[in-house]
Amino acid sequence: MLTGANIVLLGGDARQLEVIRKLTELDATVLAVGFDGLSTPLDGAVHAELDGQLFEDADALILPAVGTDDDGTVTAVFSDKQLVLEEDYIARLPKHCKVYTGMAKPYLKDLCTKYGIGLVELFERDDVAIYNSIPTAEGAVMMAIQHTDITIHGSTALVLGMGRTGLTLARTLKGMGARVKIGVRRDEHFARAYEMGFEPFYIKDLAAHAGNLDLLFNTIPTMIVTAQIIAQMPSRAVIIDLASKPGGTDFRYAERRGIKALLAPGLPGIVAPKTAGRIMADCLGRLLMEDLRLGREKR
Ligand code: NAP
Repeated sequence: MLTGANIVLLGGDARQLEVIRKLTELDATVLAVGFDGLSTPLDGAVHAELDGQLFEDADALILPAVGTDDDGTVTAVFSDKQLVLEEDYIARLPKHCKVYTGMAKPYLKDLCTKYGIGLVELFERDDVAIYNSIPTAEGAVMMAIQHTDITIHGSTALVLGMGRTGLTLARTLKGMGARVKIGVRRDEHFARAYEMGFEPFYIKDLAAHAGNLDLLFNTIPTMIVTAQIIAQMPSRAVIIDLASKPGGTDFRYAERRGIKALLAPGLPGIVAPKTAGRIMADCLGRLLMEDLRLGREKR
């Protein structure tokens, strides 16, 4: 349980409502900033105003999926007020307090380093990335359905990358009846893909596989679907790029060739905010209980 823990939760979207629900269920005191425009009650949390004092007694500071932007602004969809995480707020946090977020930009990383405050990026964790790959794959399928005039069943789909997202997506597409080719760079991934019934190929041979496909899903966060690759693709092909911004596709060249290419970031929060919120909430609940227990033992 989190009895006696003081948690400041700053900004966020519908996912944060699941986090609030979970933390209050675990008996934490949750001070929520940036939810003043919410039309429903806050599940046991207390509405708070952004003020330096708030941070002085915090055992944990929870920020949204993307912690802050490059200037410290924190997204808060349930408020009209602008929230900025100022340096002074981080400076006021007790040394045992950690900051939890999905992913952190340099602004937040630098402040936490400067003041010796622990920073936890949930999306870097394997478990969270694997759970998140489920709504991501469903979102990718949704986009493929929306942007093609054929069924996924019977289509030829290329998935680039066999990491946490690529593998879940490849299995999902195969389950729907697609012919799935998967691009990898490691021998062990090639072997595993073969064992799982996919048609593996090495990424270095991508050009040779680009000529016959209906759908291309990229999960590799580097320029991989280059103009040379797109030049080989049939005009019916649709590219759905899931890799983090700016993606791994030459979008300019795709447009020039008349090939539909879509960058699709943040799918879990878009297609399944409740599930995505539960994924963050469950992980946060476990981490906070462990971190606060260890913190108390040290003090
Ligand atoms: P991951 O588990 O690290 O998988 C990345 C894959 O890319 C691995 O198979 C890796 O191969 C491969 N790779 C990386 N660099 C490569 C290169 N230069 N050449 C060939 N292969 C390369 O990451 P993930 O969790 O699946 O996430 C993949 C991307 O999707 C990330 O950019 C992530 O931010 C993004 N993402 C987007 C959404 C969304 O909603 N659109 C949701 C979740 C994640 P090795 O295993 O050989 O290293």
